[in-house]
Amino acid sequence: MNWQPIVEQIEIATSSVFKLEDARSLAGGDINSAYCLHGADKSYFVKSNHAETLDMFAAEAAGLTELVATRTVRIPRPVVHGKTAAHAFLVLEYIEFGSSSKASNRLFGQQLALLHQQPQPYFGWHRDNTIGSTPQPNTRDDDWIEFWRTQRLQNQLRLAAAKGHRGHLQAKGEQLCDKLASFFDGYHPQPALLHGDLWGGNAATDKQGNPVMFDPACYYGDREADLAMTELFGGFSPDFYVAYRDIYPVDQGYATRKMLYNLYHILNHLNLFGSGYLRQTETMMGSLLSEIN
Ligand code: ADP
Repeated sequence: MNWQPIVEQIEIATSSVFKLEDARSLAGGDINSAYCLHGADKSYFVKSNHAETLDMFAAEAAGLTELVATRTVRIPRPVVHGKTAAHAFLVLEYIEFGSSSKASNRLFGQQLALLHQQPQPYFGWHRDNTIGSTPQPNTRDDDWIEFWRTQRLQNQLRLAAAKGHRGHLQAKGEQLCDKLASFFDGYHPQPALLHGDLWGGNAATDKQGNPVMFDPACYYGDREADLAMTELFGGFSPDFYVAYRDIYPVDQGYATRKMLYNLYHILNHLNLFGSGYLRQTETMMGSLLSEIN
């Protein structure tokens, strides 16, 4: 990798000299190559991918900027994004990670609750983005149920059909979409800024014990969708949930809705990673339908 063009962009964006000493490749990213650019007195985190991913990085930078502005959970600050001759790249503040503790887990729950309590004007976002590498539409809608139906479930169902997952999956999916309102009896979600992809792999703790979230897929939605994803692949401690609920109690219907919210991510896994997720997707749909039939 030729780092010179990226170093130049960093220098322009920060109005200061950056003397690159070492570029280290980092493990862990699902989608992109990740590096730490280490300088004499500063380090940067860089993600890169082929040139067509520039818009994906622009959307991620916009999400990070909006999350930073909430002054709740610590978020890596975006520095610059752009294109070299061969690649698109996104440069962020580099954060050194430490270990979590009871106190940092509690703090994370509190800070996420405070993020979710900040009111937002509508469901959707000012731009589309991606979930993993799948396009995620965020067209404004004032009706959350309609938003979840069309822009989340039906969008993934359409992608699944294009990949050959027709028949049973589509029939159950459409049945669910028809009856979506049954899951929201007496519950009126308010738009909140969501991380949007909050599994354990997108959260950490810095050296000072502050929780950190990264790699978001932001939009304004029902906060339960963020909470549900924290439960999907594990990694969040009971202290996190107790602290969250102390600040922002959760409606009892969440127990059922969380599967509806996680169905979106499992459908996305089906579309990204293939038929290994088919049975789980259909099982989730079956359980959800049995809740309302
Ligand atoms: P991808 O978009 O490919 O999934 P991530 O944003 O999840 O990439 O980043 C890959 C890994 O790099 C993460 O799992 C995390 O360990 C690390 N990482 C992410 N952001 C930073 C950062 N700002 N500073 C230091 N390390 C980071």
